[in-house]
Amino acid sequence: MTYFDDFDVKDEIKKAIREMGFEEPSPVQAKAIPEILKSNDVIGQAQTGTGKTAAFGIPLINRITSDKNVQAMILTPTRELAIQVSGELQKLSKYLNIRTLPIYGGQSIGHQIKALKQGVQIVIGTPGRVQDHLRRKTLKLDRVQTVVLDEADEMLDMGFIDDIETILKQINIDRQTLLFSATMPPAIRKLSKRYMVKPVTVSISKSEVTAPSIDQWYYKVLERNKQESLCRILDSQDPELGIIFCRTKKGVAELAEVLQARGYLADGLHGDLTQSQRDAVMKKFREGTIELLVATDVAARGIDVQNVSHVINYDIPQDPESYVHRIGRTGRAGRKGQALTLVTPREMKHLRSIEAEINMTVPSKSVPSIEEVVE
Ligand code: ADP
Ligand code: MG
Repeated sequence: MTYFDDFDVKDEIKKAIREMGFEEPSPVQAKAIPEILKSNDVIGQAQTGTGKTAAFGIPLINRITSDKNVQAMILTPTRELAIQVSGELQKLSKYLNIRTLPIYGGQSIGHQIKALKQGVQIVIGTPGRVQDHLRRKTLKLDRVQTVVLDEADEMLDMGFIDDIETILKQINIDRQTLLFSATMPPAIRKLSKRYMVKPVTVSISKSEVTAPSIDQWYYKVLERNKQESLCRILDSQDPELGIIFCRTKKGVAELAEVLQARGYLADGLHGDLTQSQRDAVMKKFREGTIELLVATDVAARGIDVQNVSHVINYDIPQDPESYVHRIGRTGRAGRKGQALTLVTPREMKHLRSIEAEINMTVPSKSVPSIEEVVE
């Protein structure tokens, strides 16, 4: 058993950790933090939601001195993550005087330049925007001691490899390099061989985490924009095979019609269909003739289809258990599943009771803009 008090880090950090409500280190934290504190390069592999941010955040913050220059650089795949990681680091460093700054596309660069000029110690950025600042010479990385590649698999999926390499080449080689990822595809091993020195690998097997192999997140949406939001999400996620849950039969029928009219390969499954109609829909879904199955909880009961890549809660379930059942339709047979939930402001309370049930915080993403979808 490891406790946060066992780590050789500043008392101010321990105090902040207590305030954040963390009682004991998660498995990836217990294994990675001591290695990072020993100044090793570390590769940390653990599923989403296992606390990778604090695994690198705690030792990284411990190392920051009062010098007002960039001492740590964290690369993340998206602006949401940059903001999220920055928020977590700010909480961890609440009792220390440390300036962190997220830099990402879509925000005025002038604003970021001004903030950088005021002296920032930790920069959290998306590779594209970091590169942009490097080109403009508004960001200097010559004093960086720690580099973190966070959610490395996602960064590679998003095509950031060239940006990442260019950035890494500009940072002095006696830095410490940390890489965190949910999965370890060959491209990441290659990257680590090239840019890390004798990395220690910390990997958390599935049996050690409570979260199954399902990525969960939610989108805050407005009731009146729900259909439009769903379509953008579908376009950006491009599910191979997805189940979309609605609360009522009427809701299922309406949504299936809307999706068909918009050209999606979708069909509805609800209790008002005859058995042979239901069988026909299920057959098409299994064969992939339809990619999106719109269903009520009742209609979807007992459905066991392999390779469901996405479960989408168009209507958030009212009781937490049916959430668990719904999302259990994906992430099977060793494949990673995605479970996403649309939440209107009025429904936030349901999300909170789901989080209490599954004992984790469901992270949020923002609904993609039209430009992001069309690109
Ligand atoms: P990952 O990067 O592995 O997907 P995060 O670092 O985003 O996971 O952490 C997921 C959630 O768990 C966050 O809300 C975080 O604050 C919380 N968390 C992290 N470590 C602990 C801990 N030791 N105890 C309780 N909650 C934790
Ligand atoms: Mg993370």
